[in-house]
Amino acid sequence: MAKLLKNIGEFGLIERIRKRMKSGSLVVKGIGDDTAVLKLGKERFLLFTADMLIEGVHFKKNASPEAIGRKAISVSLSDIAAMGGEPKFALVSIGLPATISLGKVDRVYSGIIERARKFKVSIVGGDTVRARQLTINTSVIGEVEKNKLVTRSQAKLNDIIFVSGSLGASGKRNRHLNFTPPLKEARFLVDHFQINSMIDLSDGLFSDLDKICKESKVGAVIFEDLIPLNPQANLNSALYEGEDFKLLFTVAPDVARKIGRSAVYSFFPIGSIRRSSFGLKLVKKGAKLQQVRLADKSFRHFK
Ligand code: ADP
Ligand code: MG
Repeated sequence: MAKLLKNIGEFGLIERIRKRMKSGSLVVKGIGDDTAVLKLGKERFLLFTADMLIEGVHFKKNASPEAIGRKAISVSLSDIAAMGGEPKFALVSIGLPATISLGKVDRVYSGIIERARKFKVSIVGGDTVRARQLTINTSVIGEVEKNKLVTRSQAKLNDIIFVSGSLGASGKRNRHLNFTPPLKEARFLVDHFQINSMIDLSDGLFSDLDKICKESKVGAVIFEDLIPLNPQANLNSALYEGEDFKLLFTVAPDVARKIGRSAVYSFFPIGSIRRSSFGLKLVKKGAKLQQVRLADKSFRHFK
């Protein structure tokens, strides 16, 4: 019987593609982090990332067009933030049905342009094609000083795990459309502290922490008591729903004490890095000794 995409899922497919790729000598990171990291300059790395949004999958048909535009570019800006970098240039490609009103397209671009201006990103091209549903692909190039690059793969044993804000219920009040990419927070972190690993929370705390653990070959424990939740959010929505677009990062314990005292932004410690054999565990509220092995219930594109 033919093997189907739904049997291996999104991450299985990416792994399958990843195995076929051979990177050139200028590729510091290819597939497997928030952005590609490329050695082009002397002092800086080039960051390169792409994201695609499709009507009916990532936003509802009747969502605010400006918000769709803002989200389309912000998901890529969030990935640049997760590497500690600054975004510079973007290509925006759109797929459109012929019957879409020009007013709606203008409004989508108003959202894109607003965010691009706010974060000093120049939109320098793209592509326009016919599609059944509104589809937007953004590719963003950014830069990071070599000593400020943060990847998913350098989390260390005993690191403290932090998140940069409240999580969960991203579908409520359209948080998933209107989030601000955490560029300022990320630059503050890499400017002042040694950050060992970082990722942006796009797939949910469980899935994204699991990516740091897999790439860094470590395990982790997090504490339900410590996870900051949005109004209307419960633990499950924080663990599995995703689209929070906050930073998840790890630092050595002595750095964690300093970050705890820095009052500019709110960073919340939620757990620590363990050996890989420990796996990924949650300590439930009030039951300090009861550890629950986390099971993967995250959103999947191809179930
Ligand atoms: P994020 O949620 O941070 O955007 P993803 O989980 O979408 O990251 O992607 C993980 C990694 O897989 C990234 O390095 C991304 O560039 C890569 N990737 C995703 N889809 C493809 C594809 N079709 N071909 C090659 N690489 C891909
Ligand atoms: Mg990401």
